[in-house]
Amino acid sequence: MAEASGKQVRCSGGHSAFVPDPLPPAEKTKRGTPRKRTERQSAPEGRLQVTKESLQNTIEELKTSKEETQSLNEERQTVNSELQGKIEELSQADDDMANLLNATDVATIFLDNDLRIKRFTAQATGVIRLMQSDVGRPISEIVARLDYPTLVQDAGQVLKTLSFKEIEVKAEDGTWYLMRILPYRTAENMIDGLVITFVDVHRLKKVEEELAYANAALQRDIAERIQVEASLRRLVTVVMDSNDAVTVQDLEGRITGWNRAAERMYGWSEFEALAMNIRDLVPDDLKDDELKLVHALADGERIASFETRRVTKEGQILDVWLTATQLVDEVGKVTAVATTERDITERRAAAEALERLNHELDQKNKELESLLYVASHDLWSPLVNIKGFSGELNKACKTLPSLVADAQLPEDLKEQLTIILDQQVPRALESIVAGVTKMDTLLAGLLRLSRLGQASLQLEQLDMNTMLADIVKAAEFQVRESGATLQIDTLPLCLGDATQINQVFSNLLDNALKYLDPARSGLIRVRGHQEGGRAVYCVEDNGIGIAPEDQDRVFEVFHRLNPEGSATGEGLGLATVRRALDRQGGKIWLESQPGKGSRFFVSLSAQV
Ligand code: ADP
Repeated sequence: MAEASGKQVRCSGGHSAFVPDPLPPAEKTKRGTPRKRTERQSAPEGRLQVTKESLQNTIEELKTSKEETQSLNEERQTVNSELQGKIEELSQADDDMANLLNATDVATIFLDNDLRIKRFTAQATGVIRLMQSDVGRPISEIVARLDYPTLVQDAGQVLKTLSFKEIEVKAEDGTWYLMRILPYRTAENMIDGLVITFVDVHRLKKVEEELAYANAALQRDIAERIQVEASLRRLVTVVMDSNDAVTVQDLEGRITGWNRAAERMYGWSEFEALAMNIRDLVPDDLKDDELKLVHALADGERIASFETRRVTKEGQILDVWLTATQLVDEVGKVTAVATTERDITERRAAAEALERLNHELDQKNKELESLLYVASHDLWSPLVNIKGFSGELNKACKTLPSLVADAQLPEDLKEQLTIILDQQVPRALESIVAGVTKMDTLLAGLLRLSRLGQASLQLEQLDMNTMLADIVKAAEFQVRESGATLQIDTLPLCLGDATQINQVFSNLLDNALKYLDPARSGLIRVRGHQEGGRAVYCVEDNGIGIAPEDQDRVFEVFHRLNPEGSATGEGLGLATVRRALDRQGGKIWLESQPGKGSRFFVSLSAQV
């Protein structure tokens, strides 16, 4: 705006007024040559009038101008103060915004359309260590500070689609943030880059993780519960279908559970039983004992299974094998007792019958043993006679040939007698002597076997190392003859009758030597160990072995697997061994493989 020339002066009213300067002298010459005095004098008034009017107009115009200027000034002042107000508002809004952003703790980064950092809030320095020098850098250069490799693509996508993107990201320090990428809209709804915000969701994430963990635990718990319930259902079915009577009673003895087997065994239906007390099933003479038992169970005592009696609906007494179990609540307090009862009436009768039979068998065995003893003993004396007389007969027969030769007998008779005396009689006598010798050993064996049953036992602690050393010494010749290697380990002590145990191990060692395989050098080993309260010994050889089908039969009397073989024996050794061990609570068994060898195990009490 062109400025009017002049100066402002203060008016009395305080308003400034514009007063024109008197024309300068140069101006006056420019405007024209001053008119002659005469002309001025001829139209002085007219011209003056014109000038006056013109001046008047100019003054008027100036006045108007001044007023306009004044009002313009006023307007400018108003606009100025409005502008000032707006600037203050804007700075207030800016402060508010900065405070708001600080208060919300939301880290914010502003990007331009080229994805370069325009500015950021203070919180952003904490999240991705932004510095003032990062302003202007492309976001792609600092993306590595976040565990978010597709940030640049996603930011580009938001810029393209104007949609927003939300994702959880982990910063370098491990903190989780909810990251939002939004288009930056200007007041004119123009897109001017992007805004990226980071909200700290670490605690939320932690809670989420804990929740997920708790949820997984809950799921497991539920799965377990489902399993428990399923197995409980199975258990109930098993209990209900069990062949044993299963009953449940509270601590006053009131029946609260009764399965089908209990119905069958005792005759009361479940409905009836649930109105009864367990005492109704207990015979009178046992009632007090059973009450004590329930009290003991209620006190948490463990009771081993035991045999007792129960009364059926029909009044029949049953022998039962009872197992009682406490049922406890969640704090371990006994609330009820479950019992399993098995009817053993028949089994018991069978066991009694077996016991009777065993007793009878024992008696018969004893009778047989004494019969055997008497028979073998009584047969012994005639045998001794036969043995003696056959010897004498043999002697006598040896003199006969010379007598016949000297006798006056016809030649053909002599010839016949010579054949009889030279061949038939010696052969017959030889057979008699062999038979007698065989019978002698058999009778000796039988006598030993029968004496075993008769002999009184003297149980004592046995030092098996000494005993084996004695046995080996006695068999020294046989061992040397066989060429076998004998190894005796350190043996544990045991309880037994010294004579009979000596017989046992002598027999086993004798057999091990007798039944070695000539195809390989013999190896015999005796070892032993303690197992619980028992001493277990093993006599092992690498001999001919015993076929599986013969392994039980070798303990039978007179049972020989290879009677024609070179080994001598009467098939009584192992029978004697078993009998001896039976009498003192010992056991014998074997493991063997034909062609490889045998192991005979002996178990005896180790307790003294
Ligand atoms: P025997 O007097 O015949 O040895 P035993 O009662 O001692 O009688 O043995 C019965 C049979 O068991 C023997 O004839 C033999 O065939 C077999 N036997 C016993 N011990 C052994 C062994 N260690 N190895 C192979 N066979 C054996």
